[in-house]
Amino acid sequence: MVSSTVSKQVASKQAASKQAASPTPAYICPYDRTCTYLGQAGIDLQIDPNVLRILEQPRKVVTVSIPVKLDSGEVEVVAGHRVQHCDILGPYKGGTRYHPAVSLQELSALAMLMTWKCALLGIPYGGAKGGIAINPARYSVGELERITRRYASELIKDIGPEVDIPAPDIGTSAREMAWIMDTYSMNVGHAVPGVVTGKPLSIGGSKGRQMATGLGVAIAIREMLSERGLSLAGSKIAIQGFGKVGGAAATLLHEAGAKIVAVSDGGGGIFAGGGLDIPALKQYAARNNRRIKGFPGGEPVSNWELLALSCDVLVPAALEDQITEDNADRVQAQIVAEAANAPITLVADQMLEERGITVIPDILTNAGGVVVSYLEWVQGQSYVFWDEERVNQEMEGLMVRAYHRVSQKARELKIPMRRAAYMLAVGRVAEAAGDRGLYP
Ligand code: NAD
Repeated sequence: MVSSTVSKQVASKQAASKQAASPTPAYICPYDRTCTYLGQAGIDLQIDPNVLRILEQPRKVVTVSIPVKLDSGEVEVVAGHRVQHCDILGPYKGGTRYHPAVSLQELSALAMLMTWKCALLGIPYGGAKGGIAINPARYSVGELERITRRYASELIKDIGPEVDIPAPDIGTSAREMAWIMDTYSMNVGHAVPGVVTGKPLSIGGSKGRQMATGLGVAIAIREMLSERGLSLAGSKIAIQGFGKVGGAAATLLHEAGAKIVAVSDGGGGIFAGGGLDIPALKQYAARNNRRIKGFPGGEPVSNWELLALSCDVLVPAALEDQITEDNADRVQAQIVAEAANAPITLVADQMLEERGITVIPDILTNAGGVVVSYLEWVQGQSYVFWDEERVNQEMEGLMVRAYHRVSQKARELKIPMRRAAYMLAVGRVAEAAGDRGLYP
């Protein structure tokens, strides 16, 4: 399933005293790509290959069959997974994805990204990711509830506030988190709000969580523009994906004065050179089953065209593998802010770098969500709840500090921000692994 050769490669590369990386094959899946970035950090930091050997594999992979009685009376069986990558820094933490393309390989990549993201932000969590390979749009609310509750029941021994804490991701929301929280609580016999984050406010959710990932994206872009003597006001930004992350980022960037020249969803995009009316677009999408197609305030644009638009900042906020060797040479933005996880392939990443386009890496750009998830968990564990201003302030402080740690390291070493971010994140986990030692 996954690469297990990174530590061997690193050992031989270290022995060969920092030889150049081996030739890059045309497509490397997100998991192997993340392992490649880990391997580079291993070389940069001279990490013990024994430690890398542990970090390149998920610690635990759970797959369950979920039989669901459909509204028609028929029973369908779907597969659910939870991948727990690393709990060296603390309990596992990561989203729950409902999407037809969910696979163990994809979840392993996303779980590992969570480990680096938490470490980079200084949050005491490890990385995990779960998912069910379904298209949620094909199921009724009742069917989705039965699927979610059975999935949570099957994982009852593998999740918990000190064990592994799911959150929303593609295709899930506060509603699914409430079902997981209730199912877990009923099984253990008392209310356990801390088993999930991103849950509704009524059961211990945090103010600010809904917009958190989008706010973190906006903060990362703002910091980079301000380092270049620019500001959000008047900047032209194109956003792929108009869901929880892309939609929130569009709203906040628009409020800050940026011109959102295009957004898209799975059904295509909308372009307006002078900037879209984002509140009107949100209202339109709310009336049209969350689809933006047909919005009268702009012209249609395909997802492919959106990525190649003339703009200052491009924000992929949908799925993996959107900027590839087939379209990286057409990107015109000077900055690409990875709001989605792993939206740029390895070859495309190198192509953008060679063209002088700066990539703010996913483990930094989209970390606002897990930061506020952590703040939600802290509030829940202490039974003290904060107002939105306090939540946003705490999150902004952590995001800004992490941004400047990465930016400074990248400048000092004259390396891309992703490589700098991995050095900081992997270094922190490797140090903790060394301090904890190997059991038994
Ligand atoms: P979502 O399901 O709320 O939204 C996904 C959006 O992408 C939708 O608008 C969908 O129509 C669109 N989309 C799907 N396929 C597309 C395609 N081929 N082209 C263009 N748009 C497409 O999901 P989300 O929570 O916003 O997550 C988006 C990304 O952000 C994912 O990579 C996720 O892992 C990452 N992320 C999410 C969070 C979070 O808090 N939700 C946190 C960190 C990272």
